[in-house]
Amino acid sequence: MRLLPLVLALCLTAPVAFAAGKTTRIADADVAVAEQLRDRALKDDTAWDFTEGLTTEVGPRLAGGPNDLKGREWVIAKFKALGFDKVWSEPVTYPAWVRRSEHAEIVAPFPQPLSVLALGHSPGTPAGGITAEIVAFPSFDALKAADPASLRGKIAYVGARMVARQDGKDYGIGSTVRVAGPSLASQKGAVAFLLRSAGTDHERLPHTGITHFEDGVTPIPAAALSVPDAEQLERALSRGKPVTVKLALDCGMDGEYTGANVIAELRGSKKPDEYFVMGGHLDSWDPGTGAIDDAAGIGITVGAAKLIAELPQRPARSIRVVAFANEESGLYGGKAYAAAHAKDIAKAVLGSESDAGADRIYKMTASVKPEARDAIARIAAVLKPLGIDYDANQPGQGGSDLSAVHAVGMAGLSLHQDATRYFAWHHTANDTLDKIDPEQLRQNVAAYVAVAYLAAQADGDFGSKPGAFAKDKDE
Ligand SMILES: [Zn+2]
Repeated sequence: MRLLPLVLALCLTAPVAFAAGKTTRIADADVAVAEQLRDRALKDDTAWDFTEGLTTEVGPRLAGGPNDLKGREWVIAKFKALGFDKVWSEPVTYPAWVRRSEHAEIVAPFPQPLSVLALGHSPGTPAGGITAEIVAFPSFDALKAADPASLRGKIAYVGARMVARQDGKDYGIGSTVRVAGPSLASQKGAVAFLLRSAGTDHERLPHTGITHFEDGVTPIPAAALSVPDAEQLERALSRGKPVTVKLALDCGMDGEYTGANVIAELRGSKKPDEYFVMGGHLDSWDPGTGAIDDAAGIGITVGAAKLIAELPQRPARSIRVVAFANEESGLYGGKAYAAAHAKDIAKAVLGSESDAGADRIYKMTASVKPEARDAIARIAAVLKPLGIDYDANQPGQGGSDLSAVHAVGMAGLSLHQDATRYFAWHHTANDTLDKIDPEQLRQNVAAYVAVAYLAAQADGDFGSKPGAFAKDKDE
């Protein structure tokens, strides 16, 4: 059964194309449709309406919290109302964590309250809190180099700084301190951990986020100070006397929770089992309403899919929008999706997730097979009038929730959003709808709709197969 189609294919295909592998092509007619979709997106408010609705009617969506199910039900109803052909859920199980209250204050030498938020997965303090002397470090490396004797029984504080940048790369500095700092401090004998928030603002609002304790390490209470409070603590320390802080956290792990990835699909007209996948994550941190992180990501990709749904005919391949579960505490939704679909990863022809806010996209990168590079360049040409440059020298893994799917072999395309403003509000009470600029949001939809349509129509694949991109470096 397998020989006959091969012989036929050999007769119909130029030998040179076989020697080099099949080149993926994008037809002129498809480019024309993609350009129309792109221009239509610049006048369409589906993404805004979705983001406004989810953040108003559901609000904060802490994974495993009271709004987890409410958020899923809201998204399922919205997907159905928007006319997707198929809507379903796939279970995702993870440890739940609860925040009840937090309090911090300088006890001596200058008593005063500090603005603080517990980190996700932090244990609580004993009732009455922990009162201990601060030992301060300017960076994660300085904490790493510290003599454990200096930390025993103390509260470790790391004051690493972030600068606002278009590519948001300083988040690597702040998130390393937040994720790995508490575990390292605990190993060196500290009784609690504070950091200068992983943020670029000077608002008195701390940035929460996940921390992670290595196996065998005793979890210690860990919290973020707002940037002004971190600087206040540093000024108190600069007076040269011991500074004592009291930290009282009521929070902690709360058993196992099973949520779900919610998936909506437009069924392809010719190859329905193959699909382009996009989306964002449905969970958010709890202080804000998760507008930029990441209601907007789902809104942008839903807005793109809805414009394609309005075409007289479905594209050749299917188009999926995934509202991923629990990205924030460890990519649980993305990992579950990768585990569920690894065996047929070649069907996921290309993927791109939106998870860096709602400001304009300025750059596109892709990780695809060499024979699909020309097709990617054609897609890039459609995005060029939106002010998006194509960087052919960098990988594009497709975004945080798709990183696990990419790691098992899905070709990825990344649409990089301008992150200059993002890390001022990220994971704070300031992550609210008013931070979204409707015009920049529409530019995002315009880029996604063109990419989704052309990927679904392309003649040939982008290189998705088991293990195809195992050598990709981090973006
Ligand atoms: Zn996010």
